[in-house]
Amino acid sequence: MEETKSCLLCRKKFYGRSDKRFCSNACRYEFNNQKRVTYNEPQSLINTILRKNRNILAKLCPGNAAIVTKETMINCQFNFEYFTNIQVDDNRKIYYFCYDFVYIPFYENEFQKVRIVRFLLRKLEWDPWKYVKQKPGVQPHEE
Ligand SMILES: [Zn+2]
Repeated sequence: MEETKSCLLCRKKFYGRSDKRFCSNACRYEFNNQKRVTYNEPQSLINTILRKNRNILAKLCPGNAAIVTKETMINCQFNFEYFTNIQVDDNRKIYYFCYDFVYIPFYENEFQKVRIVRFLLRKLEWDPWKYVKQKPGVQPHEE
């Protein structure tokens, strides 16, 4: 059934099938494009931060490993809030990954320092449940 409708994008009145939402293909395309951009915005912001972090690590660690101060990283505008993954070893040492780099914060006397290591892709043996506390009385479910 044809009826008078108002375009979801430009609000122009048009006449069309009851399920039609746009006055033209151009409006339908533009509407979906805007929706996609809005949807992807947080993702692309985080990707930008991560790429920037990775470039800083590559600059500070041109070889396979380097030690820098926290201050140096801050001066480069490194963003410590974002990393690609994190691991903790049995000594509670924390490894922050940023793509193909790992950085490990540590103290040298009172100085906050960071060891940066270029990470060669290898199989990681990481169990996400390793540090999760289990409810008492519940047995681990073996597959
Ligand atoms: Zn329109």
